[in-house]
Amino acid sequence: MINVTKSALPPLDEYIEEIKELWNSRWLTNMGAKYNQLQTELKKYLNVDNVRLLVNGHMSLELALQALDMKGEVITTPFTFVSTTNAIIRSGLKPVFCDIFYEDYTIDVTKIEELITEKTVAIMPVHVYGNICDVAAISQLAKKYNLAVIYDAAHAFGEKLNGVGVGNFGDVSCYSFHATKVFHTIEGGAVCCKDESLAEKIRVLSDFGINEADQFSYVGTNGKMNEFCAAMGLCNLRHVDEYILQRKKLSDRYSDRLSNVEGIKLNMDNSNIERNYSYYPVVLDEKKLGYDRDQLCEKLKKNDINARKYFYPLTSAVVCSGDCAQTPIAHYISERVLTLPLYPELDLADVDYICDLIMEGIA
Ligand SMILES: *Cc1c(COP(=O)(O)O)cnc(C)c1O
Repeated sequence: MINVTKSALPPLDEYIEEIKELWNSRWLTNMGAKYNQLQTELKKYLNVDNVRLLVNGHMSLELALQALDMKGEVITTPFTFVSTTNAIIRSGLKPVFCDIFYEDYTIDVTKIEELITEKTVAIMPVHVYGNICDVAAISQLAKKYNLAVIYDAAHAFGEKLNGVGVGNFGDVSCYSFHATKVFHTIEGGAVCCKDESLAEKIRVLSDFGINEADQFSYVGTNGKMNEFCAAMGLCNLRHVDEYILQRKKLSDRYSDRLSNVEGIKLNMDNSNIERNYSYYPVVLDEKKLGYDRDQLCEKLKKNDINARKYFYPLTSAVVCSGDCAQTPIAHYISERVLTLPLYPELDLADVDYICDLIMEGIA
């Protein structure tokens, strides 16, 4: 069985070496040595001013929203993992769904302004599949209407736009280090903020609201990353460039094989982005191909290939019983997108096999 993803792991000895100290220190969580080291190393790797580690990516979204202390509406995309939308709703805010660009599936910045009301307090866009949003246009709108910007950067680990680390945009960028992501800590996440006091507020919120002076300053939660997860992060960070290089090789092979097939739309190339090759989505035009996404997904499954309908359905439909007609492009893409297997250990021969199955079509 070839799954859509398979978690990368460092050599076992390397991880054991990394966690040995924990048997001496007996400091297993609560901002220990591994946590602090990983935070410092990530700050360097991501090229950002402030990083704070958290228990998972979802918590990074919820705590970013809580730290900004807002009430009202948040303009966001329905073409994302349900976590983005859940975080908005669980924070007592109302998601307002904006359509996406046909080209790269990120929020369509030309349609944001018409959704802004006197209740709008923030924009929460997603760098979906590692495609970086139009951050300049979003920043302009945010300034004009005094809105906060929280990026869901779960797919964009280590990416750069015109040489600038993606975590530098907006008020907060939220990362997921879940086992399925390009860089992982088993479970984990982080926020990057320009403003150090905001980053620190998020950390305090992740520790029940207890601040440096040991006082309760906010109604916080338990969202801390533990030392075993941080140790996994330290190991994976040493290998993540290899992982990304391997992902690039495999993605390039998919593109070589599929770029000339009429009816298969590949993820957009953008030479301004230094990519992490987190996913390999294809969008299938059933009229040109003679078969649709669901049929291909079924055929691949019969051949032990687990491709995923990622993202389908739209989160507006799942969580808010929203009307998909209001975001027609997102609706169109979600009905036709299929994310193909991609992970560092996948073989080029497997990619060829998957492409052969796709080109054969449906009998
Ligand atoms: C993975 C993911 C999340 C949630 O991250 P977890 O670490 O699983 O909590 C949020 N948003 C997007 C777009 C994701 O892909």
